[in-house]
Amino acid sequence: MHLYTLIFGAGSVGPFASRAFVPAFITAMMMRFTPQYVSSIFGDMAASASSAPGWFTSDASLIIFGLLAALEIAATKNQDIRAVFQEIDKYIKPIVAIITYMGVVSTQDIGFIEQATQQAGLADSLPALMIGVGVYWLGTLRGGVLGVLFDADEDDDIGVQGLLSWAEDIWALCGPILLLIFPIVMLILVGIVAAVLVLARKRAEAKEELSKTPCTNCGEKIYNAAIQCFACNTPTASPSEISFLGRSLDEPTPDLKAHSYKLVEKKRCPICATRFEKRAVHQQCAACGHELFKNPDFANAYLAQNDARLPIVLIISTLFSLIPVVGLIPGIIFYRMTLIAPLRKYIPRSRAILMRWGVRILFFFLVMFQWFPLAGGLVVPIMAFVNYTVYRTAFKAMLDNDK
Ligand SMILES: [Zn+2]
Ligand SMILES: [Zn+2]
Repeated sequence: MHLYTLIFGAGSVGPFASRAFVPAFITAMMMRFTPQYVSSIFGDMAASASSAPGWFTSDASLIIFGLLAALEIAATKNQDIRAVFQEIDKYIKPIVAIITYMGVVSTQDIGFIEQATQQAGLADSLPALMIGVGVYWLGTLRGGVLGVLFDADEDDDIGVQGLLSWAEDIWALCGPILLLIFPIVMLILVGIVAAVLVLARKRAEAKEELSKTPCTNCGEKIYNAAIQCFACNTPTASPSEISFLGRSLDEPTPDLKAHSYKLVEKKRCPICATRFEKRAVHQQCAACGHELFKNPDFANAYLAQNDARLPIVLIISTLFSLIPVVGLIPGIIFYRMTLIAPLRKYIPRSRAILMRWGVRILFFFLVMFQWFPLAGGLVVPIMAFVNYTVYRTAFKAMLDNDK
């Protein structure tokens, strides 16, 4: 076992925390096609890598890793698939990281391993296990930090999560290369990334704690934005206002009735402000047991106050749309955040995907006319109106049917 193999393993935790197959593919490619370079770093390499590729650098494994890496990049570009992926990839990543590490070990020094198979097996399985644990830990940390972004903007209407996804692709693509060329630099970089993630996580937790105060009656910690304590139902004196992104603000809410709807818009319980986990119109609050939209009056009022927003959103969308080309994206983000998000958050992903593809074809033709002066002003408001009608219909149907 070589020191550089260990350094490689430790450093690979960084890229593998982001993607499973992309770093595996890049590593196998480097091992296969730059054997002289790799051997100069890893020290005494057997001729194995160049003359007869091992299982890790074989054509078959390169093709499989390559296909899976391409699929992985494509899958993480869609917010819906990304959300599903997040659930399973925390187990896939450590496994692929371990396979890659064992692959790197296997490409070097075959003679050495053959001589001392048992010792080598034992000596390599401990670092491999630690790499798996490291990837799982860093991956979980990453998931937690991304989760905060996800809570704020579940459907990525602003697009920050999409941009981050591209950044992570670059990290997963370049990480293994950097690791082979400048191992120490990469190790330090991974350390910095881990530290930043730990701090970000801590900060988010502190913020979450700050957004809670003990109930005056029972002492349970409840959200500042809550209307009642989730445990004893004691009303709070002055629930705090929540921001556009769903966080508690310092000032009290000016309108208690509107506050309940505002909480629901941000996918939080209208009573105790706990976040709803499911994408379903009818669900129960995990903390206080409140059944969302069970009261038809509340449901209708929720829809009505969203409807009331439609004219003003259409006017502002028109203003955005009047600016050729440049106004399109901000206009779409605007109507999605204000009009669609309060409904779409409660529509299951499978259903939302179908609906989105349905209107996408129409939008494709609309967008082509957006650069026309004046006439282009109609494009974004039409998109807003069509989208709103589609999501509202689906929402209403779920309200009435899925009980
Ligand atoms: Zn209480
Ligand atoms: Zn609740």
